[in-house]
Amino acid sequence: MACTRLILLGPPGSGKGTQAKRLSDTLKTAHVSTGDMLREARAAGTELGRKAGECMDAGRLVPDAVVIGLVAERLRKPDCEPGFVLDGFPRTVAQAEALDAAGVGVNCVIDIDVADEEVVSRLGGRRSCPQCGRVYHVEVAPSKDGTHCDGCGAGLVTRPDDVEDTIRARLKVYHEKTAPLAAYYRGKGLLKTVESVGGPDAVFGKVLNAIGAR
Ligand SMILES: [Zn+2]
Repeated sequence: MACTRLILLGPPGSGKGTQAKRLSDTLKTAHVSTGDMLREARAAGTELGRKAGECMDAGRLVPDAVVIGLVAERLRKPDCEPGFVLDGFPRTVAQAEALDAAGVGVNCVIDIDVADEEVVSRLGGRRSCPQCGRVYHVEVAPSKDGTHCDGCGAGLVTRPDDVEDTIRARLKVYHEKTAPLAAYYRGKGLLKTVESVGGPDAVFGKVLNAIGAR
């Protein structure tokens, strides 16, 4: 069975978003990122977007009803017909059950595994461009002058959700609410675990192996 309807699980900072993007490019399926969807709603200044923004800044999960509505609408769009890579959803067993109840058949779940301290060092060093959205890292991928965006010249900022206390809060939420998802999908025989070590290329190779795409 081809893995075309995928879920990527992993804590913040696991490189899940990067892997999801590469995977959807390779498989020619849609990359459905709930983080991007919520940021767009927030930028648009809708009531829903404002609520989501408050939760994200505080390291809390956005309420199920909000996210489920957005995702169900997104997965009905034509670009999801060949398949999709879900990134950032589901985050709780209740959301996974809602996905099943909505008739969304998933045939593969990849869990990207990474230690907490590694997450803190990866995310705490992140600097973002408030103008074009490009992301840098003070050690791994600094901008040319270290403080401004190479692309558009805007001053780089630490996003509220990349502050250490917020990262630790997000990890705590992740372990409490999201980790049981692994057990849920293991029980369905869909779960494959990939260690996030060796950089994005190495991890991508492991992901492709895990889904039998090479
Ligand atoms: Zn920029």
